[in-house]
Amino acid sequence: MTTRAEILRQLGQQVEPWDILVIGGGATGLGAAVEAASRGYRTVLVERFDFAKGTSSRSTKLVHGGVRYLEQLNFTLVTDALRERGHMLRNAPHLVHDQQFVVPAYSLASLPYYGFGLKVYELLSGRLSFGHSEILSAKTTLEKLPGLIGDGLRGGILYHDGQFDDARYAIALLRTFQDLGGTAINYVEATGILQSNGKAVGIQARDHEDGSVFDLQTKVVVNACGVFAEDTVSMDRSEHEPLLAVSQGTHFVLPRSFLPGNTALMIPKTADGRVLFAIPWHGATIVGTTDEPVDRSSTEPRALNSEKDFLLDHITRYFGHRPGPEEIMSVWSGLRPLVKKGGVKTSQLSRDHTILVSPSGLVTVTGGKWTTYRRMGFDTINRACQVASLPKIPSRTLDLKIHGWSADPTSSASEWESVYGSDLPMLRALSNDDSELDILLHPRLPFRAREVVWSARHEMARTVEDVLARRTRALFLDARAAIEAAPVVASILAKELNRSEAWRTRDLADFLENAKGYIFEGNS
Ligand SMILES: Cc1cc2nc3c(=O)[nH]c(=O)nc-3n(C[C@H](O)[C@H](O)[C@H](O)COP(=O)(O)OP(=O)(O)OC[C@H]3O[C@@H](n4cnc5c(N)ncnc54)[C@H](O)[C@@H]3O)c2cc1C
Repeated sequence: MTTRAEILRQLGQQVEPWDILVIGGGATGLGAAVEAASRGYRTVLVERFDFAKGTSSRSTKLVHGGVRYLEQLNFTLVTDALRERGHMLRNAPHLVHDQQFVVPAYSLASLPYYGFGLKVYELLSGRLSFGHSEILSAKTTLEKLPGLIGDGLRGGILYHDGQFDDARYAIALLRTFQDLGGTAINYVEATGILQSNGKAVGIQARDHEDGSVFDLQTKVVVNACGVFAEDTVSMDRSEHEPLLAVSQGTHFVLPRSFLPGNTALMIPKTADGRVLFAIPWHGATIVGTTDEPVDRSSTEPRALNSEKDFLLDHITRYFGHRPGPEEIMSVWSGLRPLVKKGGVKTSQLSRDHTILVSPSGLVTVTGGKWTTYRRMGFDTINRACQVASLPKIPSRTLDLKIHGWSADPTSSASEWESVYGSDLPMLRALSNDDSELDILLHPRLPFRAREVVWSARHEMARTVEDVLARRTRALFLDARAAIEAAPVVASILAKELNRSEAWRTRDLADFLENAKGYIFEGNS
């Protein structure tokens, strides 16, 4: 594996412009980079923090067509996303799996209504269907969802959708991009767009680790900066139409006892018309999400009181128990980049993606969903090729296996370890040489010391947060346990990256400060 220092040296020595330069290492940027590299274009990607640090590690973890867009009669969005869902399962079976959902029905009229809608959802997925939907009795509904309140329950509708680990999928895309010969670097920010004769021909970049500034030349720049895409457009030209509306979504993570079975709960319409999920994930239960318009984008968005109230009220309503602060193991929020449209509410704005080409040739891609990342990358690279007059090369991502692909990903793996797919034997071998690497980082978490070493050696982890938030999912699953595990992680990482004691102390302190924001301490 090439070290970060070697990647920076190669970037500095590059004389020929790159074919395609991607700014942003979330689902959209990584998807575009894989699309470009798999077609043979010389591609580089820069991410100013860590891969998937933004929205792409903060999703509801669904690989889905979006049942609620059916109600908006947006069949194209749903059908396209269902097709992508099918390809994600085929190309990354170690990261995506079929998940049963049940919609509880508290009125007799809602049974045929949602039963019909979910049958249409199943049929739209065609031969890439995950399974049949069916109407359940009240008794079977409660057997599937043992934690649910049974009063007034008339039955339920079972349907299938996909579930995944978003940040792990992003890391697998990074590895796929590297396997294809692409160059990616984290903690390097695009601070300016270089122009020649009014055309975007590169970026000015700043390395966050040592503060150095350098230029990267390219034939075309792709802006995949999520909710920050508008800032990048502004670097290119100071005056432009407002592009994005930003909406925040928050999740709570609760103990598995709230939803002890393997079936997820879907509430299609809460009292105020939202969709709410409770989903089993890595041994815990995720509940979310909300949809609150926000004025400013932040790298670490924090839950609003209104969101916490909404989640607490609805958990109490459906599970009959209001969780205390100690039962809420983690709270996290993400920001949706939605393409603006007049005075329309954020919850009504389209989840479809948009590609804009600036007069300079800067290609901006925004909107969309995790599930449609491949399609977004496909459309973006087609436009980028036109802008840069690159030779036409057909796409091959529809059937491209994602790094770690394995025919039988779960055969000998624990639920968590299956995310490593075909890399798992190599990961486990680390502790054959050093049995200390076999120890769990925390008794409440499934992660071992060897995962820290692996993420530094093979997955470009640079900080304690990279390891505990996105290489493992400790911070998202149990923030207090992640905080307790952090000193050990800092020591292993400092040794692995050959860092000083001062670095270890500072990086640990930074993590602890940020991690506090994931602990629920009641409403302020
Ligand atoms: C609460 C919530 C729940 C969701 N749930 C689902 C779901 O269940 N299923 C689904 O399919 N979709 C879901 N989505 C949508 C999905 O998560 C997003 O569409 C997707 O993650 C957006 O990815 P992105 O790459 O565009 O943005 P991001 O992941 O935010 O990536 C943009 C990246 O650009 C980087 N960047 C910004 N400026 C610069 C710069 N100047 N230089 C270098 N790098 C820069 C940022 O650091 C960031 O890492 C959800 C969204 C939200 C908010």
